Amino acid sequence: MSQIYDRVALIGLGLIASSMFWAMKRSGLAGEVTGYARSAETRATAREIGLCDRVCESAAEAVEGADLVVLCVPVGAMGAVAKEIAPALKPGATVSDVGSVKKAVISAVAPHLPQGVHFVPAHPMAGTEHSGPTSGFAELFDNKYCLIVPVPGSDRDAVDRLESLWHALGSKTDEMDADHHDLVCAVTSHAPHLIAYTMVGVADDIRRVTDSEVIKYSAAGFRDFTRIAASDPTMWRDVFLSNKDATLEILGRFTEELFALQKAIRDGDGDHLHHYFTRTRAIRKGIIDAGQDTDAPDFGRGKV
Ligand code: NAP
Repeated sequence: MSQIYDRVALIGLGLIASSMFWAMKRSGLAGEVTGYARSAETRATAREIGLCDRVCESAAEAVEGADLVVLCVPVGAMGAVAKEIAPALKPGATVSDVGSVKKAVISAVAPHLPQGVHFVPAHPMAGTEHSGPTSGFAELFDNKYCLIVPVPGSDRDAVDRLESLWHALGSKTDEMDADHHDLVCAVTSHAPHLIAYTMVGVADDIRRVTDSEVIKYSAAGFRDFTRIAASDPTMWRDVFLSNKDATLEILGRFTEELFALQKAIRDGDGDHLHHYFTRTRAIRKGIIDAGQDTDAPDFGRGKV
């Protein structure tokens, strides 16, 4: 099979970019991959571990001659990076990104891109709480969705080609518009992260009262919150600041439901609680049936 892109440039060399690189090498469907990260330390680490075929000293050098450029930096940095690389982009190249928020990224990036360059935003729905160039692995995107968010006027061939790359990286793809994307992600990812951050913050306050009991006896529920709440602070700050409307909408609904459950507990309304928990259990079953998680007890951790 011929290569999907002869030259790919990854700007930002953290979890997502490094996973893309290893998955591209696994597939053999992308030619030379160049990379750039703003800090000399990350560039040195990338060279040491063989992350990218060529690590460049500037973003402009990395994108020169590239058929596909993927912006893999925090959402709040996308606009500045797009501005920096714009003059060096090859006519006919595709620029994509992996940002967790789409409306804000599109408004920040699109104005900088020259005529004749295709912009096809995307968001792989896969990640871990680890970050940095050494955290990536080829299997990260396997069987996970990558949401493709074409902008008005996106070239169909450029969209199809990017989708082929994501399929080669192991992903399934779906297309949707930016508003819908941001709402879906507020429900499935952004609000849950904020709730996890809050729960761990509350437990930390209590820990000060009960000494180390919260950590010592932490069972799966709390441990899972702490895993999510260990996610990169810069990335998540940017996500909330740039997906403000959708996140606030979902948090508003969440608060209403929480108050209803709080009232049910106060009133001793067991039927309400049982009915609610039965409904949510069915959602978990739907996720397992769709192959999006394991049914193993405690996520397959075994006895820890
Ligand atoms: P990461 O591991 O923290 O790596 C971020 C990279 O961006 C690093 O190379 C960093 O450079 C660079 N960077 C940070 N701030 C920058 C700035 N102000 N200007 C230029 N470069 C900057 O991040 P990641 O997890 O790969 O996330 C990258 C993107 O993917 C984000 O937009 C995020 O929303 C999205 N995403 C993340 C996940 C996830 O679970 N992590 C999932 C899906 C999508 P240095 O190393 O030199 O500091």
